[in-house]
Amino acid sequence: MNDDLSHFCCQNPHCPNHGQRGKGNLTVCGHYGKQQRRLLYCKTCKARFSERKGTPLFDSRLPDDKAQAVLAHLADGCGVRQTSRLVGVGKNTVVRYSLRAGAHARQLHDELVGFSPLDPEGATG
Ligand SMILES: [Zn+2]
Repeated sequence: MNDDLSHFCCQNPHCPNHGQRGKGNLTVCGHYGKQQRRLLYCKTCKARFSERKGTPLFDSRLPDDKAQAVLAHLADGCGVRQTSRLVGVGKNTVVRYSLRAGAHARQLHDELVGFSPLDPEGATG
């Protein structure tokens, strides 16, 4: 089983390794839910959290592939309307994801290089 945890980091704000990836402090301690999400365990602070926590996809209602498509389009510089049309989701959903991704932009910098928080449509000048 290939547990690639290099994209995850500890979600405990009080942990010395909080927000730091690739430290080797995380292990998989279990699975949960119908989709067998991984439950991660931080050896440094002994906290447990969902693999979905701390990513823009956490607590989302869209299937992963749609959510990722939304983020990919946003990262490519598509506007809300364009992304909504291309992916086939509502504009409100796109806005919600863009805000969520923006809040996590620092954490996701590696994956979403070039992503910038969405400007209100056309209001950049
Ligand atoms: Zn920790």
